[in-house]
Amino acid sequence: MGLDITWAVDWVRLSADVIAEHRIELITLDREIGDGDHGENMDRGFQAVLPKLDDLPAGSTPGDVLKLVATTLISTVGGAAGPLYGTAYLKGAVAAGSAASLDGPAIAAVLAAARDGIVLRGKAESGDKTMIDAWTPAVDAAEAAASNGSDAAAVLAAASDAAWAGAEATEPLVARKGRASYLGERSAGHRDPGAQSTALLLQAASDAASASAGA
Ligand SMILES: [Mg+2]
Repeated sequence: MGLDITWAVDWVRLSADVIAEHRIELITLDREIGDGDHGENMDRGFQAVLPKLDDLPAGSTPGDVLKLVATTLISTVGGAAGPLYGTAYLKGAVAAGSAASLDGPAIAAVLAAARDGIVLRGKAESGDKTMIDAWTPAVDAAEAAASNGSDAAAVLAAASDAAWAGAEATEPLVARKGRASYLGERSAGHRDPGAQSTALLLQAASDAASASAGA
């Protein structure tokens, strides 16, 4: 079964919840190797999307929701995260197109487009200790699951698990991009906050899909 507008709206609501819940954790992670603004910025951005969900016109698609998130994050989230996540959601929206429902391969394509957008914008590569280190394993897992015939919810579950493993794997890395790279070797031993927020957001996507499937 594909994932429709209900899933997309649930994903945004769950994202706002989970980011608010983990705000302090993200602030702490970013304070260790960055400037400490990641939790605050992400929380402000997702809280700003919530009231706009009520204004979505009838017949809106998952792509419309992703676009709404993109424009809101770009206009409300400062630092590096706003433009990076804004680009991710925008490219994801383009990949989703005007489809009313997204199946496994379509979900994998949305995630791949989002990741490619972040790479293009941030110029980071795998192993640089950035959000890409959560996104790329997530996309690989999603594409593998989709090509094995998994449904959309199972594709998101695979992406979420891989994003968590990827976020954890940033801990020993020495940062080569962003503010954390100024710390050099001292950036090792800390988890990248952007990789952590990526795992939280993809987990929310998966949880929203399980809720849709159970409904
Ligand atoms: Mg920061």
